[in-house]
Amino acid sequence: MADVNKKGHVLNAALLSVGLGVVLAAPTALTAVEALAVAETVAKLSVPIVLGALFPDVDTAFGKHRKTLHNLFVLGVVAAFPVVFDNLQFVWIGIATHYLLDVVGSRRGIALFYPLTSQEWGLPSGVTTSSKYADLVTVVVTGLEVAALAAVHIYVIPLGETASVVNTLLA
Ligand SMILES: [Zn+2]
Repeated sequence: MADVNKKGHVLNAALLSVGLGVVLAAPTALTAVEALAVAETVAKLSVPIVLGALFPDVDTAFGKHRKTLHNLFVLGVVAAFPVVFDNLQFVWIGIATHYLLDVVGSRRGIALFYPLTSQEWGLPSGVTTSSKYADLVTVVVTGLEVAALAAVHIYVIPLGETASVVNTLLA
């Protein structure tokens, strides 16, 4: 089965949580209290991001794999939760990183616009799960994600405050 496996998705999500926790909480020099704040942020991010990263492959059991829970509408609904219900913060990051890893890191693409179309989208950069490069691709993709999220966090919007920013815009 040419697919990014659970191990890959958990590795990706766990590393992303650590990287993002450092990005969000780490100042230039760490005191013990600040180091604790980094660890606390990593812990706060890791469970929701790992759970989010595991969620899309539930469609191996319910619906059509790489379609039913691998589309932008599912991502949109989960991303809206913190804004509407003030819960599930950060779960969307796990889902988004799962999609990205499937698109960039695996041979088969995903149906981003399902159920509008079953067309699967992927990049030729993908490798199979059995490839010796599978873990390397996962780590490289994660590194690029942390860099991109750091840029967004530093230059555009404080991640995790998306809900309050959206509410301010709507007010
Ligand atoms: Zn998947």
